[in-house]
Amino acid sequence: MELTQPLGNALNQPIKEIWGKTPFLKDLRSLKKKDLMFCKICKYKNYCVFCYANNFIWNKGYKKPYPYQCKIAQIKYSLDKKSND
Ligand code: SF4
Repeated sequence: MELTQPLGNALNQPIKEIWGKTPFLKDLRSLKKKDLMFCKICKYKNYCVFCYANNFIWNKGYKKPYPYQCKIAQIKYSLDKKSND
């Protein structure tokens, strides 16, 4: 997977500075689970491998889920339910 958002240039800046000062990364680090409206009430969240990068690539934003990860979580939920029936 690749994140196409430019973050900085490690040849010209220390990684620590890129991590600490790039607005994109600061915004990403400030996100809380409560900011993810779709996920707050999701019954599959315990089966989900949530990925901000996938969200960003798919939706051009972090807060809306990447549909493929939702489908995988649904499948894992269904398989778990079947194995416990
Ligand atoms: S399955 Fe989709 S909606 Fe549910 S927690 Fe995961 S990303 Fe969010």
